[in-house]
Amino acid sequence: MKKASLVAAFAASFSISSVFPCLAAEGALADEARTAEERLLGAADEEARFFDLQPFTREIGSTVVVSTSLDQALAESGVPAATMLEALRALSATVNLARDVKRGDRLYVRYEQAFTAEGAPIGVGRVMWAEVTLASRGPVAVHRFRTRDKVERLWFTNGLSATPPSMRMPLDAISVSSGFGLRADPFDQPPPLAATGKSAPMGGPLRSKPLPPGLPTGGISGNGGTTNMATPLGASLGLAPYGGFGSAAPKAAPRAALFMHEGIDLVAPSGTPVYAAADGVVVGAAPNGRYGNWIRIEHGGKLATVYGHLMAFAPGIEPGEAVVRGELIGFVGSTGRSTGAHLHFEVLDNGKPVNPINHPELKAMQLRGLDMDRFKKQVARALEERTRESKVAATGL
Ligand SMILES: [Zn+2]
Repeated sequence: MKKASLVAAFAASFSISSVFPCLAAEGALADEARTAEERLLGAADEEARFFDLQPFTREIGSTVVVSTSLDQALAESGVPAATMLEALRALSATVNLARDVKRGDRLYVRYEQAFTAEGAPIGVGRVMWAEVTLASRGPVAVHRFRTRDKVERLWFTNGLSATPPSMRMPLDAISVSSGFGLRADPFDQPPPLAATGKSAPMGGPLRSKPLPPGLPTGGISGNGGTTNMATPLGASLGLAPYGGFGSAAPKAAPRAALFMHEGIDLVAPSGTPVYAAADGVVVGAAPNGRYGNWIRIEHGGKLATVYGHLMAFAPGIEPGEAVVRGELIGFVGSTGRSTGAHLHFEVLDNGKPVNPINHPELKAMQLRGLDMDRFKKQVARALEERTRESKVAATGL
């Protein structure tokens, strides 16, 4: 995979001369590129020579026995420091390395390293598998794996993510009153005698959408639309499994307008401290229409969080200020379009609202179903491979 992309990148650099002939006229580098390109198009042995010049990647496995201390073992392993750091950070999610690793315990790190054609390492090797075998507990291992949702990271062999979530929930105690997805607008109920159900919206039709006919149970949100999913985390957060529109909302108010709830509502008494979900920069802290007192924080990369209905802002929280994960930013209130004290919390991924409850940055992820099956197979293959390699090493073949 990595090798293919490197080769592609390398080959692409040679095609510059044909795409930009003006560049080819300038400088020895471009001439060299053209010569290389001609070689590539030439005879088979020249093609082979071209591939000899390619950067390559290799997986390297290293086993060390702790004979005096963990530091000694790390030094003897020969694993580059930055790579070893990734391995130890992942393992330390469940192993207290300083306390639990004893003499006689074993550490195994397998990593993928890119090299130049001459064999010089390029960049930091990626940990594929890290394992510490403790006399007290047996092996504890993490393996790199990519889920069908394209979440690539290190996972413990029981399927739990070794990467702690980068975000935290904005309140210490979490009680969700309204989940992410379509819901009946509490401000938008039809008056008791309004037979048509054409209600007069308070606060504007900003997000109110009539229920499309034949809406499938489960919603139409881009995120699968399943509010209050029956996940273990959802259950632990007190979320009831989502029942669909056939049951709750339409019965209570047959033609109530539904709207997309782009965040979650966390119930808490007025004045409850609200904390930044992650490190970032405050880009907005002001009264903002239906959000009431509102804060928006950008977290670098593509993530942002939004906090609504605050009673007050914490001192110093204003646009341009940097905040750290867990820093006090304000207090729960009921300002704006709100029926009671609660925090409206949104997570935006590339500007698009996503369900905070399911977001990998907020959740200790656990592999399930098909992902777990594939992961188990990958781990089994890795173990077989290592056994084969150690046999080859033992017989000196
Ligand atoms: Zn809300």
